[in-house]
Amino acid sequence: MPRPILATIHIASMQHNLAVVRACAPGAKAWGVLKANGYGHGLERAMRGFADADGLALVELDNAIRLRELGWKKPILLLEGFFGFEDLHTMAGYSLQSAVHCNEQLAWLEAADADLGERGIKFDLHLKMNTGMNRLGFKPEAFAAAHARLVALACVGNITLMTHFANADDAEHPLLPIAEQIRRFEAGAAGLPGMRSLSNSAGVLRQGELEDLLRNDWVRPGIMLYGGTPGGKSAADYGLRPAMTLTSEIIGVQDIAAGDAVGYGSRFTADGAMRVGVVACGYADGYPRHAPLDTPVLVDGVRTRLVGRVSMDMLTVDLTHIPAATVGSKVVLWGDGLPIDEVATAAGTIGYELMCALAPRVAVVEG
Ligand code: PLP
Repeated sequence: MPRPILATIHIASMQHNLAVVRACAPGAKAWGVLKANGYGHGLERAMRGFADADGLALVELDNAIRLRELGWKKPILLLEGFFGFEDLHTMAGYSLQSAVHCNEQLAWLEAADADLGERGIKFDLHLKMNTGMNRLGFKPEAFAAAHARLVALACVGNITLMTHFANADDAEHPLLPIAEQIRRFEAGAAGLPGMRSLSNSAGVLRQGELEDLLRNDWVRPGIMLYGGTPGGKSAADYGLRPAMTLTSEIIGVQDIAAGDAVGYGSRFTADGAMRVGVVACGYADGYPRHAPLDTPVLVDGVRTRLVGRVSMDMLTVDLTHIPAATVGSKVVLWGDGLPIDEVATAAGTIGYELMCALAPRVAVVEG
């Protein structure tokens, strides 16, 4: 008998969540961000879930090629511009767009321009501005010069002006509020032609509130397409539906008495008589080992909590108030009925990390 742990991917929820993006950012085109294997949901499944997107965006060149091989005809964007000089011909061959974020990349494009231009190759590029996140991109004051270098090249087609928000999920951020990043973007992009691409999910979800400030021709949502939230309200409050449900089963039950301990390190001690259910899900499946006692879990649709430490293949839950639960009872670790963000928050992490950490040994089905 296979281990009963299963990830069910809800393609219809991905389609629904894309419609939520459209409603939040009317008039903007939408990339479906599916880096990291579609945030753990599977590249090909995410491609089908986002079939109505205007393009797909990711960071892995090999997966970008795979999308073309799978038949994706619309634009594909290398979101962070992870490419080197040696990749330019491959990118051209598969008609990939890319972010450009540093002087070295401008120099590679200049060096290859005569050759690429002669072959009639034109890249659509996304010039990235560093508006305060200090990860990738040109500072606002250097942006126009970088833009001019791209415009001068025969191998460059459309140039989209792009930045990335650090704190769009935090309306009150004291150091770098979204309005300040937009202000810097506007200053750096002043007078430059080109489409604009600023918002991730957090920006998309605040589009209505920031209507007068924030203008996007393209938006780049990731987490919300998978039914997670970047922060702020719950995903359900935004009308988002989970695209992944991780389920398993109770595989054993222990009746314990006051003073009995559970699991490695005997971290949990019972106050009184209780029933403990053993679930076939552990950190080798992608469940966070550091999830503390009281992290929520659903058993037969009833909410309960972790007791004891998460081990490699198993975790333990309190069944005292679910007397009918027994071997074979259905357990939801996250997804339908139990938001992944709630589990992530309890475990001191984010839904993104839980999704991406789903282990290859977990069987995946669609439903
Ligand atoms: N745009 C860029 C440049 C990113 O790096 C990411 C992801 O980190 C996204 C968009 C999507 O972000 P989110 O999943 O928060 O919507």
